[in-house]
Amino acid sequence: MKLSCGIVRDLLPLVVDGLAGEESRAAVAEHLAGCKECSRVRQQLEQDTVPNITPDAPLQMVKREIVTRRRRMVGAVLGVVLAVVFCVFARLSAPVWLPYSETLLTVDMLDSGDLLVTVNQPHAGITVDSAGEETTLSVWKNAISPQNSRETIVIPSDQVGSALYYADFAGDDTLLWGSSAAGGRQTLPRLVLNYYLVLAAGMAVVLGIAAAVLRKNKAGKLMVYIWLAPVCYIIAHFGVMGLSTVTADAVRPLGWILVAAASLYLAAVSFIRLVWHKQ
Ligand SMILES: [Zn+2]
Repeated sequence: MKLSCGIVRDLLPLVVDGLAGEESRAAVAEHLAGCKECSRVRQQLEQDTVPNITPDAPLQMVKREIVTRRRRMVGAVLGVVLAVVFCVFARLSAPVWLPYSETLLTVDMLDSGDLLVTVNQPHAGITVDSAGEETTLSVWKNAISPQNSRETIVIPSDQVGSALYYADFAGDDTLLWGSSAAGGRQTLPRLVLNYYLVLAAGMAVVLGIAAAVLRKNKAGKLMVYIWLAPVCYIIAHFGVMGLSTVTADAVRPLGWILVAAASLYLAAVSFIRLVWHKQ
């Protein structure tokens, strides 16, 4: 049976997909044997249809989509939960510096010349800080009992220098032992977290404006991801420090702020990707 090229071209898709009957297939094969043009069309058709004849390709795409969505949801929830846990733990373990009082502690000189400090406050921690010629000492407590709580501490005479002060980060230090050469001193809380907070707020404003201006194109989306970093830092700061920006020790709260901020960032990115992908 002789077929024209036109009829063969109409039948080719059915033959390639395996849907043509025995008679049609034989007739097309016979025609292809003598027609280079139609053979080329057939080759082309086979190449084009190969990816589509995998029957579960769309199903796999749906599966992949579900797995991705689930991963992003887990990321969003896990990030928020971790951030809350870090903030709560940071607050419970934050040292609360006790103000000086006559009954809080006593200082005695030992025969060796070292100083014995006895704290009359159960479950308190003692921090000793030597700076130059003088030494300061502070007592703190927190909600969860400190691991290194001590009732007594010996300060070697060579570490004390000319004077030992009590510093409670709220004004003038109290002279506990020795003599004050400079006529009194003050230990002020550190403001470094305040500067970081202001810096983060400035970055959040600038990057937020940039993201709003560029929102129509890809750079805008990237800008949103960058903008989230200072925003997460600010939220984490309030989570760890409350409304306060002053601290006696900057390293400890900064560490907690950074891990809480990183958790929040994970949550925010997962959530945004979830929402953007839906559109
Ligand atoms: Zn032909």
